[in-house]
Amino acid sequence: MVLDDLGSSLRGTLDDLRGKSRLEEDDIQEVVKQIQRSLLEADVEVDLVMELSDSIKGRALDEEPPGGTSARDHVLKIVYEELVELVGDSTELPLESQTILLAGLQGSGKTTTAAKMAWWFAKKGLRPAIIQTDTFRPGAYDQAKQMAGNAEVDFYGDPDSDDPVQIARDGLEETEQAEVHIVDTAGRHALEEELIAEIEEIDSVVDPDTRLLVLDAAIGQGAKEQAQRFEEAIGVEGVAITKLDGTAKGGGALTAVNETDSSIAFLGTGETVQDIERFEPNSFISRLLG
Ligand code: GDP
Repeated sequence: MVLDDLGSSLRGTLDDLRGKSRLEEDDIQEVVKQIQRSLLEADVEVDLVMELSDSIKGRALDEEPPGGTSARDHVLKIVYEELVELVGDSTELPLESQTILLAGLQGSGKTTTAAKMAWWFAKKGLRPAIIQTDTFRPGAYDQAKQMAGNAEVDFYGDPDSDDPVQIARDGLEETEQAEVHIVDTAGRHALEEELIAEIEEIDSVVDPDTRLLVLDAAIGQGAKEQAQRFEEAIGVEGVAITKLDGTAKGGGALTAVNETDSSIAFLGTGETVQDIERFEPNSFISRLLG
């Protein structure tokens, strides 16, 4: 079965259904309760958890298990299908020339993700460049430059400038030889007007093919507002979720994907440029429920 790595309480509840061929309403209620608990623990937003669990419950009650399918496998299949429908496949990123803009709050992992993505594209045989426009966070330039060195990719930034929009413009020109332009931007500690105004301006200068929202896996319920604000400001085509090597399960990504009607592009699993994975729904969903 697809979800082989489930949390013990959910598995226990499902295992109780093993011998049954028909599901009683009480059984479904119990499974749905466990799923709600797992998703809330994984930081999926409350309303979304309720929506998901209502769909799961409705389908589990309405749909007859196909012949030969146990009640347990039937309900598991429904849970899986509902979650897959929500997260979808990974964000499409063709292996060709393109410009990608990263947005997010300070500390979410943008600079690290820019370097990781550059490393990823380089491994796929393309020539990437990182353009560092973060003039807000001290040390951002040095960090980005060093990580670009680690990833062995082109880099542009200007430590003497305080004009991120001009840096973006110059950066695209100066790295013309590159095929994939990854534009890193400044965050702020919170969703301030200044941040939104800045990202809108950079977006209009850069005219990216893909805008990715970078979220810390531990974002929790704050994911909803962030996703809404960035969606309004620039439109979000994909989510990169970082720090999945920690204990957080990254349910905020589900919230963000739901709010922006987008998908997940990459998962960050450590601090070095190689610690990046393309999103893959099965293992992510198992982790969420686990
Ligand atoms: P930015 O302010 O959005 O550019 O965030 P940074 O890229 O500077 O990341 C903030 C901190 O999180 C840094 O200390 C990074 O090393 C760390 N970080 C970023 N991504 C990951 C990850 O996937 N796993 C771990 N463990 N740390 C990460």
